[in-house]
Amino acid sequence: MRPARALIDLSALRHNYQLAREAAGAKALAVIKADAYGHGAVRVAQALETEADGFAVACIEEALELRQAGIKAPVLLLEGFFEADELPLIVEHDFWCVVHSLWQLDAIEQASVSKPLNIWLKMDSGMHRVGIHPTDFQSAYQRLQASAKVANVVLMSHFARADELDSSRTEEQLAIFQSAREGLGTQISLRNSPGVMGWPNVPSDWVRPGIMLYGATPFDQPQSVADRLQAVMTLESKVICVRELPAGEPVGYGGAFVTDRNMRIGVVAMGYADGYPRQAPTGTPVMVDGRPSRLLGRVSMDMLCVDLTDVPGAGLGSRVELWGKNVLASDVAASAGTIPYQIFCNLKRVPRLYSGD
Ligand SMILES: *Cc1c(COP(=O)(O)O)cnc(C)c1O
Repeated sequence: MRPARALIDLSALRHNYQLAREAAGAKALAVIKADAYGHGAVRVAQALETEADGFAVACIEEALELRQAGIKAPVLLLEGFFEADELPLIVEHDFWCVVHSLWQLDAIEQASVSKPLNIWLKMDSGMHRVGIHPTDFQSAYQRLQASAKVANVVLMSHFARADELDSSRTEEQLAIFQSAREGLGTQISLRNSPGVMGWPNVPSDWVRPGIMLYGATPFDQPQSVADRLQAVMTLESKVICVRELPAGEPVGYGGAFVTDRNMRIGVVAMGYADGYPRQAPTGTPVMVDGRPSRLLGRVSMDMLCVDLTDVPGAGLGSRVELWGKNVLASDVAASAGTIPYQIFCNLKRVPRLYSGD
C-alpha cells in the first residue's frame, strides 16, 4: 500500500474545542464546513458531539450529511439557504439558518413552514462580503420578530482582520455592530478563531471557532492561546527511493534545485495530488525519522524530494512528517505562500486514519 496518509488525533481536537470555549467564556459552535477543513466532518462531529454546543457548516448539503450520520446537535447553516426551496428541509431537520440578505428575509416571510425557524441575522459591519447593511438591520430584526415563521434570533457579524492583532479594524467593526443593534437585547455571535484567541474583550454569547479546532494558528506571529493548541492532523509518508548525487546535479522537474555538494536525496510518496502545496519551495520544513530536514526542488503530482544529507541513518522506508505535531501546518503554509486553512482543505487521495476516539 502507498504509505501516504493523514493521521487524525481526535483527542487533540477535543482539547482544542475545550480551549476555544474556555478562552471565549462563551458557547461555541464548532465550525466543520468543507468536510471539517479536510479532517472528515462526520468523524469530527461524532468526536465532539457530547461536548459541543453545536456545529456550523456552509450549506445544507453539508448539514444533511451530519444528520444522515445520526448527529442530533444543532447545526447552523453559515450562508443560510441558497434557494427558498431548501426551507422545508431546514425545518424538517431543525437546522439553524443565517439570514445575510434581504432576499432571504422576503423568502422566509413568503414561505409556508410547519415550525418556526431559528435565525442568525448577520450584519455587514465592514467586511463587505455578506450581511445586512447596518442601517437596515433594525428593520430586518423587527420583520423577523413580527413573523410567525421565526422562533429565536441570534445577531451575528464576521471580522475581516481579526488575525491582525495590531489592526484597529476589529474594534471599528465591533463599534458599528454595537451601535446598529442598540436596544436589541438578544444573543450575539462575533468571533471566529482569531477573534476567540486574540480579541478576548469582544463580547459574544456564541463563538464560531474553525481553524483553531484543528490545532493551527491563524496568526503569523506567536500568540498565547496558539501555543496551547494541539495539531490534529499529521500528514505523513515514507522515503521510497534514495539518490546519492555529486555537486551540480539537478533534482526533479525543471531542475529547480541543483545539488551544491555531495548529497543524499530521499524521494517521498507525497505530491500535490494529495494536497501537498506545489508552491512549497526548497527549504520548506519536513521531519525525517524525527529529525528536521527540508524539501528540495519542485513538488510533483505523486512524489517530492527531501534532503537526507544531514540525517544519517535515514533512508529507504524512513518516516517523513509533512506537517503535524512537529512540523507546523502554518509554517508549511507560510512557506508555500498560503494559509493552513487551504492546505487542510486541499487534502485528497490520502486515507485518513483516526485515533483518540
Ligand atoms: C468559516 C467561518 C468561521 C470559522 O473561521 P475560523 O477562522 O476558521 O475560525 C466562523 N464564522 C463564519 C461566518 C465562517 O464562515
